[in-house]
Amino acid sequence: MISKAGKALNGHLDHRNPLVFDTHELGRRPGALKRLTRSVDAPKDFGIDGVVGVPEGAPVELDVRLESVMEGVLVTGTARASAEGECVRCLEPLSLEVEADFQEMFSYPDADDRNRSKTADPVDDAEDDEDRFFLEDGLFDLESVLRDAVVLALPMQPVCRETCAGLCSECGVGLDENPGHHHEALDIRWAALQGLAETVQDGEKDNMGGAEPGVDEKQEK
Ligand SMILES: [Zn+2]
Ligand SMILES: [Zn+2]
Repeated sequence: MISKAGKALNGHLDHRNPLVFDTHELGRRPGALKRLTRSVDAPKDFGIDGVVGVPEGAPVELDVRLESVMEGVLVTGTARASAEGECVRCLEPLSLEVEADFQEMFSYPDADDRNRSKTADPVDDAEDDEDRFFLEDGLFDLESVLRDAVVLALPMQPVCRETCAGLCSECGVGLDENPGHHHEALDIRWAALQGLAETVQDGEKDNMGGAEPGVDEKQEK
């Protein structure tokens, strides 16, 4: 069994998890390099919640470079995937290519002991510093590093295209499909129609969404 955090049930990293990498082949000689590419399934919650993200299970292409350094393994790489979301202006579904660069140091637990006070309690080595990542038996889990990089590379305000005009703020029709759409300010006929629309809505609550665009068509003519 593989949990979300890439750990097997016994709490150790599971080398069968595609986001867990093995550094044994690299060796510990500083300067040793290893490059690898891997296609993995996107894990859960891989994006900005409710805005845009890579769907769970979608392919993520990884280009990873491992470099052995004194205190551990420096991991540098690029992830490429397709993200899906919704245009913040017109609310239409959109997809976009995301390319995220990442770099993180995964330290040897014993190297860490050497660099710190000799009296440090060895029990709380990996947990006492949330910002640091450690190798576990020569393995490391890339998932959280990857997620942070992808989230950072995604737009907070995705748009279907830069020129998207969005929706009319008054009636909600798509402005790209309705060029020239506008509302006359303080138009008495519009006010009358609006009053009528409200009456219709009051009478037909389950038809509220359909009433306004109908009114709008009349307004344009
Ligand atoms: Zn749009
Ligand atoms: Zn409108």
